[in-house]
Amino acid sequence: MKVLVINCGSSSLKYTIFDMEEEKPLVEGLVERIGIDNGILTQEVEGREDYVINQDIPDHEVAGELVLGAITDEEHGVISSLDEIEAVGHRVVHGGEALTESAIVDDSVKEAIKEYAKFAPLHNPANLMGIEAVEAVIPDKPNVVVFDTAFHQTMPASSYMYAIPYKYYEDYKIRKYGFHGTSHDYVTTRTAEILGKDASELNIITCHLGNGASISAVKNGKCYDTSMGLTPLEGLIMGTRSGDLDPAVITWLMEEENLTPQDVDNLLNRESGVYGVSGVSSDFRDLEERADEGCERCRLALDMFYNRVKRYIGAYLVSLGDVDAITFTAGIGENSALTRGILLEGLESLGIEIDEEKNNVRGEDVVISTDDSRIKVLTVQTDEELMIARDTQRLVNE
Ligand code: ADP
Repeated sequence: MKVLVINCGSSSLKYTIFDMEEEKPLVEGLVERIGIDNGILTQEVEGREDYVINQDIPDHEVAGELVLGAITDEEHGVISSLDEIEAVGHRVVHGGEALTESAIVDDSVKEAIKEYAKFAPLHNPANLMGIEAVEAVIPDKPNVVVFDTAFHQTMPASSYMYAIPYKYYEDYKIRKYGFHGTSHDYVTTRTAEILGKDASELNIITCHLGNGASISAVKNGKCYDTSMGLTPLEGLIMGTRSGDLDPAVITWLMEEENLTPQDVDNLLNRESGVYGVSGVSSDFRDLEERADEGCERCRLALDMFYNRVKRYIGAYLVSLGDVDAITFTAGIGENSALTRGILLEGLESLGIEIDEEKNNVRGEDVVISTDDSRIKVLTVQTDEELMIARDTQRLVNE
């Protein structure tokens, strides 16, 4: 079975075709600058030169047609006809409380995606455009949606409620939803596979540390708590997002600097995080390099990031009580041995001991703790696209 996976943003569209027999990507591509001028499609197939198309791409439907042309192109494509694709899986950011698991697209699913656009105004409408573009271009294929929020829907109310008047939950569904769920889910499955256990037997702290970053407490294979909230702004200090802060900072700044809600949204999502503190970069490689060269605010930004991650790991160790594994993933989690080492240094008394040599791996899914470490520490390369393809296959086969 071949599954097309689409991850659609407001001006971009990422795509992958999986051959599900081997769970291998046959092709990966990216369309950029949709609706702007100078559109570009870049398609990668292993062992071949990249295929690039430059042309204006006025909307998502044109982007969809371009993708279908590229994947069936005689010279550069990977399939001879669209009939080879059996189903299409789409990433959708916010499923809210209405969509607690992956689903085959129908009108009610589309309505829910529209409804929860109130909490993901940049993402959900773009995700829906991707679905509608596919429906327009290949109308006879089943479309499946996989939500960033779905994995976290098992959280108990004590984890997801905010301590504000209850009516705001009743009236607007204001609560913690959590994001990166597809990644936390994938990493949970891989951790169980590597440890040779069933996920339902394991308590895991999954640390997705990338430009956007979140941590989840996974109890018996299901999400028990997570650091992101109503939106991806809560929790860890990220590339350009503040993460947790005293809400009074916001009202004080709004009054003092006459900021609008839009200004605050921009300030906390795009101008804060390690970028805002360092004033240098949101990229951890730059910050590590500049901190070594003596940039004090780069060092401070990194130290603040480590401190925040440690706080969450500490909190989740206690709320889970009995933890089997801590797993790192995403850009920083997969690649920065330095970060993993700093985060879990000196925790032998808690049963956590990293093996320095094993920690130096990159690009592998492995245990990096010592044989004696009671809590296993792993690094896993996340694969959200594959997880979406698996869910798509499962749902269309049901
Ligand atoms: P996103 O998907 O949220 O855009 P990624 O998961 O790709 O983000 O992570 C990007 C982050 O990973 C960047 O801050 C980058 O600097 C960091 N990163 C990648 N490789 C390394 C490395 N070798 N050492 C430290 N940080 C790294």
